[in-house]
Amino acid sequence: MTDTTVAAYAAATPKAPLEKTVITRRELRAHDILIEIKYSGICHSDIHQVNGDWGDGIFPMVPGHEIAGLVSAVGPGVTRYAVGDRVGVGCFVDSCRTCENCVAGQEQYCTGGGMTATYNATDRDGEPTLGGYSTHLVVDENYAVTIPEALALDVAAPLLCAGITLYSPLRHWGAGPGKRVAVVGLGGLGHLGVKIAHALGAEVTVLGRTPAKRPDALRLGADAYHATGDPATFEQLAGRFDLIVNTVSATLDLEAYLGLLRTDGTFVQVGIPDQPMVVSPFALVNGRKALAGSMIGGIRETQEMLDFCAEHGIGSEIEVIAARQINEAYARVLASDVRYRFVIDAATI
Ligand code: NAP
Ligand code: ZN
Ligand code: ZN
Repeated sequence: MTDTTVAAYAAATPKAPLEKTVITRRELRAHDILIEIKYSGICHSDIHQVNGDWGDGIFPMVPGHEIAGLVSAVGPGVTRYAVGDRVGVGCFVDSCRTCENCVAGQEQYCTGGGMTATYNATDRDGEPTLGGYSTHLVVDENYAVTIPEALALDVAAPLLCAGITLYSPLRHWGAGPGKRVAVVGLGGLGHLGVKIAHALGAEVTVLGRTPAKRPDALRLGADAYHATGDPATFEQLAGRFDLIVNTVSATLDLEAYLGLLRTDGTFVQVGIPDQPMVVSPFALVNGRKALAGSMIGGIRETQEMLDFCAEHGIGSEIEVIAARQINEAYARVLASDVRYRFVIDAATI
């Protein structure tokens, strides 16, 4: 096979609407697989990057890092996958493979030049990467994962970013029986955090802005729901949680949330707003509290997460859309009008 031209949706310039276009996927190398994409999730990070919230991007930009599909061709050296296999690709498609973090399976924290993001990055040959809002993707077999048979591809797609972004910190900070965990923000990341934390055996509380999502939160496995728009919430829950995972895409009053941690509790930031958040040292020193961050997860942990989700029947709550609805979906995500992830049917691209 030589370089192939495939259909995709791209933003031509920052903040531009996404439009249908054609892009080139590279000829298969020894360890490459060609994936026929079936579904691609819409992550809030896609919107941040199209809009330039995190600085200059590389345009035209084809977003998409929640990719689920089938292997349709393999390079001559491929050993991990065969044609027809169900596979997923998340937020990165390469890394240095030799640094301490890559060797430890934490490629997302690669110190040898950083992970190569699935889109809006330059790969190790100097070519721009183009993401999953497309019909096909070529990726090194070591940067794909197996989607277990028990998970339908549409509900599995969002697990590749949203799922692993919550699974990794929940595991790292020991969410489980006897632990009180709060998930802040019930969106794409948050709703999977609730399902996973519940399956891990933790007591789960959702902190959302208004009471509107309470029934959903309880249905998804939360033990409690509180509206952060009500100041009484912060008095009522003071000192309650061992772990708070903040998925909110905007800045928050961090100190108010640190007040909800018990002694030695940890607040983990996973949302990536475009503005800094300030914190007084007093909010941390009093109660030996920790303020931490976490970014997606490595390949091994992503596979572990998929296997865990298959075992516990955890998929994303999704609304499947046609590719021509992407711009409308972006507007609805920004308005928090999504229950709880838009997933593009790649057959419509
Ligand atoms: P999402 O589906 O839009 O969910 C975000 C949720 O945050 C909303 O549902 C809403 O929940 C809450 N929220 C939104 N605006 C708010 C505001 N102004 N004040 C308070 N709460 C607000 O987004 P997502 O895809 O889950 O992504 C969330 C964030 O995580 C984004 O910044 C994204 O870039 C980032 N992210 C980080 C990683 C990582 O590795 N660290 C990975 C993926 C995404 P309620 O209605 O319940 O309040
Ligand atoms: Zn994402
Ligand atoms: Zn590395």
